[in-house]
Amino acid sequence: MSSQPIYKRVLLKVSGEALMGSQGFGIDVAVADRIADDIAQAVRMGVEVGLVVGGGNIFRGVAVASKGGDRVTGDHMGMLATVINALALATSLRKLDIEVVVLSAIAMPEICESFSQRRTLHHMAQGRVVIFAGGTGNPFFTTDSAGALRAAEIGAEAIFKGTQVDGIYSADPKKDPNATRFETLTHSEVLEKGLAVMDVAAVALARENAIPIIVFSIHEKGGFGAILTGGGRKTIVTD
Ligand code: UDP
Repeated sequence: MSSQPIYKRVLLKVSGEALMGSQGFGIDVAVADRIADDIAQAVRMGVEVGLVVGGGNIFRGVAVASKGGDRVTGDHMGMLATVINALALATSLRKLDIEVVVLSAIAMPEICESFSQRRTLHHMAQGRVVIFAGGTGNPFFTTDSAGALRAAEIGAEAIFKGTQVDGIYSADPKKDPNATRFETLTHSEVLEKGLAVMDVAAVALARENAIPIIVFSIHEKGGFGAILTGGGRKTIVTD
């Protein structure tokens, strides 16, 4: 394994849940700082990073819909939650002197810039980390789909999906001691086996655009950097 990155531009998807640590809700700043540390390491290696952050640690649209409320309003609330998380991660990155910009799919000019592909490419060319907030900007979607969408738009070589475990397993490794980790899978296998990696729309979009998905543990310090240089523990989903 060399210390040279084998990727030039990647899309990292961090779920909202990853940010809450052991709290059960909201943002644990120490956890956000630790994830930012790994992103900073990647930037210092010369990798261009686009970051999509979820909102599940604060709000999910289904929480409204399941109690008889309007799903679309619930999803708007969920998308706003992703903006809060994006601002938290931007703050953590700035503490490490990393240049970062938040681009939101929902216009809120007093708080951050609005997303456009052209703006994104401009910021990336300036060496900035771009954090994509607001998901796709549409209800009934997820931030996983936003991850696949933004990856295609910026020409990312891979989608890095940071999860609670270090790859895709044959069963839940926290419940089944016989669960084994897949080294590689195809997008079609993930869809056919119904493996809970990213939602179906996200995997289908990645497949259509031939973008590999790399599943790894977001909680392992240095794990992101190790994979960027060709090592680390992960599952690679590819054609
Ligand atoms: N959401 C949405 N459209 C999007 C992305 C997200 O409506 O394009 C809403 C949806 O309600 C979702 C919430 O935002 O439940 C938080 O996103 P997600 O569940 O993907 O977050 P994660 O599970 O990654 O924390």
